[in-house]
Amino acid sequence: MSDQQREDWDLVVVGAGPAGACAALGALTEDPSLRVLLLDRSDFPRDKSCGDGIAPHVLDALAAVGAADVVDGWTPLRELELSHGTVKVAGPMRREVHVIPRAVFDARLVEHAVAAGAVLRRHRITSIGTDPATGTSTLTGGLGASFGAGVVVGADGANSIIREALLGRRREKRAIAIRGYAPTPPGIRGRQVIRYGNRRQPSYAWAFDRGDGFANVGYGELLPGAGGTRRPPSRQLLLDQLEELIPGVAATGADWRGHHLPLSSWRWDQPDGRVLLVGDAAGLVNPMTGEGIYYAVATGIAAGRTAARSLAAGRPDGAGATHRQDVRRMLGTHLRHTWASSRLAQFPAVVDAGILAAARDRHVFDTLVEIGLGDGRIDGRLATVLVRSLVGRNRSHRPSDPPSDPPDVRTQT
Ligand SMILES: Cc1cc2nc3c(=O)[nH]c(=O)nc-3n(C[C@H](O)[C@H](O)[C@H](O)COP(=O)(O)OP(=O)(O)OC[C@H]3O[C@@H](n4cnc5c(N)ncnc54)[C@H](O)[C@@H]3O)c2cc1C
Repeated sequence: MSDQQREDWDLVVVGAGPAGACAALGALTEDPSLRVLLLDRSDFPRDKSCGDGIAPHVLDALAAVGAADVVDGWTPLRELELSHGTVKVAGPMRREVHVIPRAVFDARLVEHAVAAGAVLRRHRITSIGTDPATGTSTLTGGLGASFGAGVVVGADGANSIIREALLGRRREKRAIAIRGYAPTPPGIRGRQVIRYGNRRQPSYAWAFDRGDGFANVGYGELLPGAGGTRRPPSRQLLLDQLEELIPGVAATGADWRGHHLPLSSWRWDQPDGRVLLVGDAAGLVNPMTGEGIYYAVATGIAAGRTAARSLAAGRPDGAGATHRQDVRRMLGTHLRHTWASSRLAQFPAVVDAGILAAARDRHVFDTLVEIGLGDGRIDGRLATVLVRSLVGRNRSHRPSDPPSDPPDVRTQT
């Protein structure tokens, strides 16, 4: 393709989910004159397999780019119920969460990005390279489309081709989950309900009341590692697990849609250079809870700001290093703690101990919610409970699915 046929932009964002729309918003908040192209292979509104749980931390981040009104008109909820068999805790969370279909939430964020000045186009990007003459990134897509970019943000989700071009195929753990919408059963009204199962942990079914007569319902579990002999669970098995844990919803639900979740690990990486990874494309999904919208929004905004600043300074090649530092500062400790929590949660006795401790101790309940929904950390009180339960387990229980590495909890008080 010749340069004449290539469109050049300051910033090209690949993927217009929450991470991509927020990258565009972050960049345009920093510099409203920036030429920002927001590409997605789908038209908006589009559906996305998700529990639709919007943590309060998402709204904190969106407020900084003037987009916290995306939840307007949806009834928030406060009650959380966590259980594993007969072990259960239920109570109000400190802050409200929203449950909003992604077809609505994502389209509203895209509207904000477009109102701020981003140009939205439908294109599937198929490859990324570098123009040797100028050092700019080049993206090619369907129908021979070609785009040049001072900085690229890779926000193309769990199967990101931008990530693969930068870092190779992912080796980190993945989960699989299926979601549908069902009339809200009476016991679920005004609640987020999470019921742990007994398969590969963390495995759980959920029912999140949307507040409009329907609930988002689903079930997910850890996928077997690549090269192993275990087969991934079938769609039917996922639905059977959901029905077992939350009876009635699989039979009454519709719009089933499954997807992989690229779980975050102990260490997060971002290469040097002009291509920044955000959200699922950056492998940022909480391994305890499957939540990823907060990470997508927070890293998207940070990447957009960094792109704008590095372009203004004439140093786009420094953007990758800055983004790496920013995300590690923002989430590094939290990611290590969620990784440790997810390793511990592979032991059913630890899951039970966590739930029981949350039922007895309000501080533990709040801490677990912060770790699961936002950027919380394991503190001394929670660590004591979990480690004690693990010691007890070694005396009297066996894990259903032992982890390959010993759990390693570092406490933060
Ligand atoms: C079943 C399930 C339940 C979940 N529940 C929750 C929950 O309750 N709360 C929560 O916080 N998180 C939840 N998550 C995680 C959450 O859905 C993701 O973390 C979130 O969508 C990440 O946003 P993103 O913008 O990075 O990616 P996405 O939302 O996946 O957006 C990526 C975009 O990139 C586009 N794209 C992909 N490839 C290309 C390409 N080659 N060219 C152009 N465009 C492309 C796609 O069309 C898509 O619009 C759940 C996930 C699953 C699967």
